[in-house]
Amino acid sequence: MIPEPVFSPQTHDWKVALSESFRQIEDLLKYCELDVNRPESGSEAGFPVRVTKYYASLIEKGNPQDPLLLQVMPDKREHHHIQGYSLDAVGDIKAMPVPGLIHKYPNRVLLTLTAACPIHCRYCFRRHFPYSEAKLDISNCSPVINYLNRHSEISEVILSGGDPLMLSDQKISTLITQLNKIPHIQYLRFHTRLLSVLPERVNETFISILEQFNGKVVFITHINHPNEISEFNQRVFNLLSQHGFQLLNQSVLLKAINDKKSILSELSYKLFDNHIIPYYLHSLDKVRGAAHFDLTVDQQCKIYTELRNSLPGYLVPKLVNEISGQLSKTPVQCS
Ligand SMILES: *Cc1c(COP(=O)(O)O)cnc(C)c1O
Ligand code: SF4
Repeated sequence: MIPEPVFSPQTHDWKVALSESFRQIEDLLKYCELDVNRPESGSEAGFPVRVTKYYASLIEKGNPQDPLLLQVMPDKREHHHIQGYSLDAVGDIKAMPVPGLIHKYPNRVLLTLTAACPIHCRYCFRRHFPYSEAKLDISNCSPVINYLNRHSEISEVILSGGDPLMLSDQKISTLITQLNKIPHIQYLRFHTRLLSVLPERVNETFISILEQFNGKVVFITHINHPNEISEFNQRVFNLLSQHGFQLLNQSVLLKAINDKKSILSELSYKLFDNHIIPYYLHSLDKVRGAAHFDLTVDQQCKIYTELRNSLPGYLVPKLVNEISGQLSKTPVQCS
């Protein structure tokens, strides 16, 4: 049994909450009441530990196998170099016509406005991304805005990162002002983990800025396990949904974390009860240092088939791969 979270927000200022994040393995282990000399712990392998207090509060004390802990705790297997697990697993660097803008799919582009994340997920495919080359200027006539203006086939701008909700309200507001001047941009999408990691971020000011956008706003949350939904972010999902923003979720299928039908099916229902539709279940991107989270295609298909057989169709996320050079995510072929 997972105990009720003891988290109680000390402050409503999200930047203060962010600054109180754990950044040392020892501090996190102590907080989780675990041995600071665990033999399986690894060093940070160039990707430092970062966990918000809120997310850490959802980790079960004294449980070294807690599924939330395993997503953020460095493991010595990260140092293994395994063939087929590379530094640019999804071919993003090739698909960047101007710095910070990835145009892989015809009518939508992805902007990496910030490298910062509120949490460092050990399996992340962006852990090796050369973000310093992806700094973004979104002022009038900047390369990104010019590109969007020139490409009338683009109807959707996706903010990714890093995590786009790490940007200040001011920066998001500036971007929305620019996008409103481009008539063919009708959808603004946020790919964010913040809603389930730093729920303090969503406040009235933020919502009033989003309401300035002329088109439709979509959030794709990133939630892998039902324990990542608590009474604190339930409030946030309710608020966003009440304001008419569409909520979808993407998860990554991760060994020892959510590789069971029962967990994924509970997740789908819990998402739905919070106005979120399960969208994608990503097969792990083959990124160096993350192989210990991977499952074979047969294992993935077995879980997925069981999941399909236990849920209404609208609660089954699409099991997909990101394949470099393809014009969409590619469904995993399960016979
Ligand atoms: C995943 C992704 C998208 C969005 O794809 P959807 O199928 O629309 O969710 C867009 N651009 C890039 C580069 C992506 O990796
Ligand atoms: S980009 Fe997403 S998956 Fe990667 S570390 Fe940041 S929050 Fe985690």
